[in-house]
Amino acid sequence: MNTTKILRNWLLACGIAGGALAVAGCGKTAPGDKPGVKAEAEEKQEARVGDLTVEQVLRAKCPHGSTLECAECRYEVGVVKVDPSLMQAAEGAGTGLIKTIQVAQSTTTTAVSITGEVRMNENSAVHLSPRIPGVICAVNVDIGAEVAKGDVLFTLDSVELGQALSDWEKNRAMAELSGRNFQREKSLYEKKVGSESDMIDAQMRHQEYQIALKASEQKLHVLGLSDDDIAKINPNRHDSLSGSLAVRAPISGTIIDKHAVVGELVEPGKDTMVLADLNSVWVWGGVYERDLDLLLKRKLADGIAVELSVPAYPQTLFRGQMNYIAATMDEATRTIKVRTVIDNKDRRLRPGMFCQGRILLTTDEEVLAIPKVALLSDEGVDFVFTHMQDDYYLRTNVKRGRDFAEGVEILSGLAPGQQIVTEGAFVLKSDALRSKMGAGCAD
Ligand SMILES: [Zn+2]
Repeated sequence: MNTTKILRNWLLACGIAGGALAVAGCGKTAPGDKPGVKAEAEEKQEARVGDLTVEQVLRAKCPHGSTLECAECRYEVGVVKVDPSLMQAAEGAGTGLIKTIQVAQSTTTTAVSITGEVRMNENSAVHLSPRIPGVICAVNVDIGAEVAKGDVLFTLDSVELGQALSDWEKNRAMAELSGRNFQREKSLYEKKVGSESDMIDAQMRHQEYQIALKASEQKLHVLGLSDDDIAKINPNRHDSLSGSLAVRAPISGTIIDKHAVVGELVEPGKDTMVLADLNSVWVWGGVYERDLDLLLKRKLADGIAVELSVPAYPQTLFRGQMNYIAATMDEATRTIKVRTVIDNKDRRLRPGMFCQGRILLTTDEEVLAIPKVALLSDEGVDFVFTHMQDDYYLRTNVKRGRDFAEGVEILSGLAPGQQIVTEGAFVLKSDALRSKMGAGCAD
């Protein structure tokens, strides 16, 4: 005898079967009926388990007496008796395998799921390219090295720099000499020994060399020399005036790409190294068109929280703030690109990693939502276990609504204030569906 028949007979016996059950029970499913009609009627009967009210369950009788009290039969009306030792630890008792909560209305957080890829934060990444052509004569760092701002990364031998340095040196010497000459002419003129025109000539020449010195110093800056570099050039030491240009780290960070090798000819525009500050990374993800409206109701400036996980650390949720939503949609994927900044001081996130996550959007809307773990399903019918009385829990069919970050919205079947089983609900399910679990020997 199948479950439905047993249930129907009991319900009929205690006079509580109505509606669909009464139809099935009054001979309408006689041979010759259309199979579709019969199937529909049986489907309605199946739906009864989980739809019974507490009163109906209390009235149900089985061949052994009260169904509720009967350890063999109570599962047929969707009731499970839970050993108190399994319930959540209250005052030091119990193991807490099974937990319950009181259902309540609350504001919701809509979670929009995204998939994405970790990339370096390009706002803190530098592609190093020399400003002048030259041959690399020394490389000071390897890929992966952590460098501080100002550290010398590599050194370049450059004819152009050598020329610029000697121009600058010549102009500096000439400016100095012409300055002394001007002072001498000025003093001669003041002593009425020299002519005024000689003094003015000397002054003009001095000014010309000063201008030329300024221009050649400017050129050294353009080529990448700092004020410090220039100050260190010692005119009395010929070797300090080499054409070697030290290329320094413009920011602190990690060398994440390196092409520079000794002896290589490099020129402006050619990448030699990529230096990135990996203290934060970007995650580029895509959201579907249908979710865009939800996102645009937020102000990016207020921050939109995002939670992400990567396969490398399945237990870890990385949290960040979305700070960019693309103005256009990607035609190939039909998604809109969004960018999230994630703190990465521990360097666990590596550019190139794929990640999955969700955008959390809190709303003012109040709904009745329950934890996902509380919601069970059997043959397409969703249900939860509600506390009935004492140690008894009743399968209660519900209609599920939208998914939220906190759980699943329940549209009907539950009311605020009801106690439901959350963790451990699957244990009750296996008990309630025991006829299915051991189908072979139950009949
Ligand atoms: Zn029984």
